[in-house]
Amino acid sequence: MSYLKTIEYRIIPTQSYTILRNCSGCGQRFSFKNMGKFRVNANGSKIDVWLIYQCEKCRHTFNLTIYERQKNTSIPTDKYQRFLSNDEQLAEEYGRNFQLFQKNKAEIDSKNVNYELVKLQETVDETACDNQTLIIIHNPYDLKIRPEKLISDILGLSTNQAKKLIAKETITIKSTAQSICISVRDYFA
Ligand SMILES: [Zn+2]
Repeated sequence: MSYLKTIEYRIIPTQSYTILRNCSGCGQRFSFKNMGKFRVNANGSKIDVWLIYQCEKCRHTFNLTIYERQKNTSIPTDKYQRFLSNDEQLAEEYGRNFQLFQKNKAEIDSKNVNYELVKLQETVDETACDNQTLIIIHNPYDLKIRPEKLISDILGLSTNQAKKLIAKETITIKSTAQSICISVRDYFA
């Protein structure tokens, strides 16, 4: 009996993004890390809030704008307190908020992102004509992860074994901006 197995995963970042930018402190392109801290500036009824990033080489800082001249009444009091007390968990949440980086035109170091693969669902069609497993990996933030790394993580292979199966075309890969499709023939048969 033949089968078509479809397994879906989603790539989720597990740590704050690192930013790549030209540092005006050390004059080099360097990586900036989330300090886990906020800077808050209150001016009358207007509030600015930034998330602080720091160059790993010279400690020059770069602030990501969270709020700019925001009316104080539009920020919930408990959240405002969390900004003031440098709530680490909140800083970590903002550090993984893709839209915040887009808004600030900050370049994410997408090659060095810690992530986990979350399995969404698995279906099996036993009336298929061929033994095939289709692995669909949703990559909503377009993280740059080598496909052979994903294959070795999911199938429990070494990256060398994965490379061999790709060379033999037992495994074929198609990538788009937001998903990676991996097709595996007869491997589990
Ligand atoms: Zn620097």
